[in-house]
Amino acid sequence: MKRLLLIILIFFSIQAVAKPITFTNKEKEFIKNNPVVKIGMMPDFAPFSYYNKTTLVGFEHELLNILSKRTGLIFEKNISKWTDIYNAFKNKELDVITSISYKEYREPFTAFTSSYYDIPIMIFVRDDFGEYLGIKSLEGKKVGVLKDVFYIKELEKIGTIDLVYYDTYEELTKDLVFGKIDALMQNLTNINYLIKKNLYSNIKLASELTLPNTKKEDLRFGVNPEKPLLSSILQKGLNSITIKEKEQLVRKWIGSISEYKGGHVELNSEEKNYLNTKVIKYCINPDGMPFEGLDEHGAHSGISSDYYSLIEKILSAKFELVKTDNWNESITSVKEGRCDMLALGMETYDRKKYLNFTTSYLHVPLVVATKVDVPFINHILDLEGEKIGIIKGDAFVKILRQKYPSLDLVEVEDINKGLDKVKSGELFGFIDTLAGIGYEFQKEYFGELKIAGKINETLELSMAVVKDDTTLLHILQKTIDSMTNEVHREIFGNWIPIKYQKGMNYELVWKIALGSIIFILLVVYWNRKIIKTNKLLEEAQKDIEQKNKELEKLATTDKLTNLYNRRKIEELLEFEINRSERFNHAFGLAIVDIDKFKEVNDTYGHQVGDIVLKEIANILDTNRRKTDFVGRYGGEEFVIICPESDVSGVMKLMETFKEKIYNYEFSKVKNKTASFGVTMSQKGDTIESILKRADDALYQAKGNGRNRIEYN
Ligand code: GH3
Ligand code: MG
Ligand code: MG
Repeated sequence: MKRLLLIILIFFSIQAVAKPITFTNKEKEFIKNNPVVKIGMMPDFAPFSYYNKTTLVGFEHELLNILSKRTGLIFEKNISKWTDIYNAFKNKELDVITSISYKEYREPFTAFTSSYYDIPIMIFVRDDFGEYLGIKSLEGKKVGVLKDVFYIKELEKIGTIDLVYYDTYEELTKDLVFGKIDALMQNLTNINYLIKKNLYSNIKLASELTLPNTKKEDLRFGVNPEKPLLSSILQKGLNSITIKEKEQLVRKWIGSISEYKGGHVELNSEEKNYLNTKVIKYCINPDGMPFEGLDEHGAHSGISSDYYSLIEKILSAKFELVKTDNWNESITSVKEGRCDMLALGMETYDRKKYLNFTTSYLHVPLVVATKVDVPFINHILDLEGEKIGIIKGDAFVKILRQKYPSLDLVEVEDINKGLDKVKSGELFGFIDTLAGIGYEFQKEYFGELKIAGKINETLELSMAVVKDDTTLLHILQKTIDSMTNEVHREIFGNWIPIKYQKGMNYELVWKIALGSIIFILLVVYWNRKIIKTNKLLEEAQKDIEQKNKELEKLATTDKLTNLYNRRKIEELLEFEINRSERFNHAFGLAIVDIDKFKEVNDTYGHQVGDIVLKEIANILDTNRRKTDFVGRYGGEEFVIICPESDVSGVMKLMETFKEKIYNYEFSKVKNKTASFGVTMSQKGDTIESILKRADDALYQAKGNGRNRIEYN
């Protein structure tokens, strides 16, 4: 009996851990035909990849073992110092490189996966340092740093610290331990590794170092961009790593910094005075669990409440919740001055008129909930013509209305009313955050409704402060900046996945389990069959989706530059013209033509010409705003569409493009310029009329000497 139980337990635990990845047929084929991946790694990058005596060990090696098991890929490791593997990777002698940080200039030769670890830069001091009260505490102190480290310039700008430069972080740490310097700044992982290795016991973390213009070092895989399947396989592999697995890796190789809750926030006297004299009144969305809401005693609960308790502690400030009945009332309260701020809100154009926003600290995908018998929803436009519910006053109501005018959006009071209406058939679907809908599903609707698909929008949530209170805004921004990833992850983990509300009676569970083992076995067997069949269906579905996506991409992309092609640009233009008629918003249009491009072909040949086209395309694509569309209209002419813009915005953007092109050093031809013809949409425009105006402007720009922008 016991053994059987054990087998069942093992079986369940295997099921729980090994979450299989769904690969497309193309990906499967790739793995089958090219299982061996040449990967570049460093011999001295502890704790990620390094030699322990004669064995290679580290975070990345263990990560690769997991990825190898999940994907079937075999990693052929090339171990050499960074410059060697970096050059080999650039020359395409390696398929993949590890530990590479995202840099824009690496884009042309690197397809980046997401980051598998972000290394914070930390300030360490000796135990006898006394209380650390921010950068000020380092004034006049000897602080060790590595020579040429990427943030050295920003550090030197501070000016009041006596910096001591080191070649290796071993020496740096030793000097702190033995009293030659008072503090050091270095990435957390290196120092933690040394502390563990040498059992240093007299140094401690003071704070995370946050400097302007300096991000954490992100570690990613870089993949040869000619092997897109390899990068999607690796990305899927990374996506399959669960939070638990990642935590285990971090704990084993990097060490925990859980006792460290966030940096000291440097406040000026005005800000200190503000906090001493003021109680900050804030409003929340009372129906927004698990993000925020009220618990049974009417107290602030959810993710934002954790942030507020933490912020209160960090700042020694006093926050007071102003209770409201719903989100709309909160918005009105902040407009009418009853509260100073919203705990969590999305930045929208309208709200920016009366609120200032911090940078966003929560990123949440949106999903659609439907009845269980509805097929999978691939795209928001699958919902065309159906009645779709959304919470009244939600930031997305307006955005979705503008972006997808063909949706029939119905505003409802709260999430329960919305889901009830889906259940009764009054609404076809309901849009909200995955976490929000998931939270409700656990309480009700289980088995009746399902999450039918994800839509392409993401909620970016910030704190929002009334417009005239910039002091509070700055205080909050500094506080958010001081929080480490660790803190965000911990808070998120407290609420998502949401714990079941009722506790379990384990004794009873075991009794039932023992009494019905055979039954369970049968159910398991049956379930597996269903899961298998479902998986096959799901794979087929995914395959079709993928194929459709590829076809769509082929039909709308320009082969050479990867930008939209003429067809797609005309389609987008048509769409924008209709939209601007409907909503009475103007949009901008520009035609860009490279100056004296024929000379390039004539002097260096067509191939070099093609490279210039690609480089220009890349400049346009990377400098456009998120909402702009860029396409190749033909030959060496590009079109840029700027939805919902005004003349000055469009002209400014073109100025940027012009300067970037002017300053860019093109391979072989070095310098090249372009001319721009700009126009704004007008009432009654057709594709032809608006293009004609832009073209006339371009003609003028050429006539007036090139490397110019003209407006018509
Ligand atoms: P300007 O616009 O400043 O008046 O001078 P231009 O030399 O650029 O003149 P024009 O626009 O008439 O010339 C465009 C040239 O672009 C002609 C053609 O050979 C070249 N071209 C068009 N498509 C491609 C392409 O796909 N690859 C390459 N290499 N050249 C192309
Ligand atoms: Mg031309
Ligand atoms: Mg030209």
